[in-house]
This record gives sequence, structure tokens and C-alpha cells, in this order.
Amino acid sequence: ELVNLNELFNHVLDRFDMILKTDDNPDKIYSIKREFTRRDLWVEVDTDKFQQVLDNLMNNAIKYSPDGGQITCRLLETHNHVILSVSDQGLGIPKKDLTHVFDRFYRVDKARSRAQGGTGLGLAISKEIISMHGGRIWVDSKEGKGSIFYISLPYEPLDEEDQWE
Ligand code: ATP
Ligand code: MG
Repeated sequence: ELVNLNELFNHVLDRFDMILKTDDNPDKIYSIKREFTRRDLWVEVDTDKFQQVLDNLMNNAIKYSPDGGQITCRLLETHNHVILSVSDQGLGIPKKDLTHVFDRFYRVDKARSRAQGGTGLGLAISKEIISMHGGRIWVDSKEGKGSIFYISLPYEPLDEEDQWE
């Protein structure tokens, strides 16, 4: 269905904000920063599946930032794409692992990842879902500094006139 991405992203982030606020561990503080375009971006997506992708990116950003930190979420448009990104200040991903994190069951540093829980399927599923939507998902990261996950989706801006048809 045609979905307002700003609203959908906000909806997911509101839920994470609630959980993170009730976390009573004072030396592990997370904050979510939203940098969204002010224009409403209407995109044809499967809401449930797209939410699953955003949930996994947010869960990862938290799970792999053991010391807390800021998670910056961006939403912007180019002339024919929308770009969403989630960036963290966590463990980061070694260069050699960057191309593999979207593989099924692939986990960086197995011992450490096992301690964090999970199956290593989240990003493989996310990639599948995003490609179903004709989009792309990729990551940029620096070990020890943090990671940025990007999603781009094809986008055709609605003309002012179309909105009244
Ligand atoms: P699941 O999502 O199935 O619960 P998972 O989080 O381990 O398990 P993915 O989401 O597919 O699986 O991520 C694959 C691996 O990529 C992770 O195990 C982790 O090593 C690495 N990774 C993913 N996101 C991040 C991140 N934000 N920072 C650092 N490493 C990450
Ligand atoms: Mg995951």
C-alpha cells in the first residue's frame, strides 16, 4: 500500500524511545536523533515487512552499541529515491566482514555475537525484503567507531496536482 514513510519511521522510533527511556541502567544511555525531511514521502511498501526491516536495524544499532550512544535516523529524498539511514556509535564492523553481514547466519566475531543473542538472519531477511521493494540496502562502518546502514527505495514524488485527483 501507499505509505507515509515519515509516519512509519516515526512510529517505529517512538516505540524504541519508550523502551530506551524505561531502561534503568544509567551508564548505558541511548538517545535517538531524528533528521527527517519535512516533506511527506509517500512510498509503495508492505508496511509489516518494512517495519520488520526498521526494527532489525534499530535492534542491531542498540545490540552492537554495548556502551550506549546516539542513534541517528535520517530520512531524505533525491530526485528519484528515498534514502533512510540508521547510524550508531557502537562496535562497528571490520572491513573484511562488511560484504558478508547480509549473508544468512553470518555474524561478526561469533563468540561476541553469541553473547548478544540472535540468529544472524535479520539482515539477510532485511535484504530480501528491500529487494522485493526494488530497493537496495548497504552499510558503511568503521571498526570501533560505529556503523551506518542505508536503505534506498525508488521514489516518484507526487505532483501537487496529483494529490487532488
Ligand atoms: P538476528 O538479527 O537474527 O537476531 P543478528 O543481529 O546477529 O541476529 P543480523 O541482524 O543479520 O543478525 O546481523 C548480522 C551480523 O552483523 C551481526 O551478528 C553483527 O555481527 C553484525 N552487525 C549488524 N548490525 C551491526 C551494527 N549496527 N554494528 C555492528 N555490527 C553489526
Ligand atoms: Mg539483527
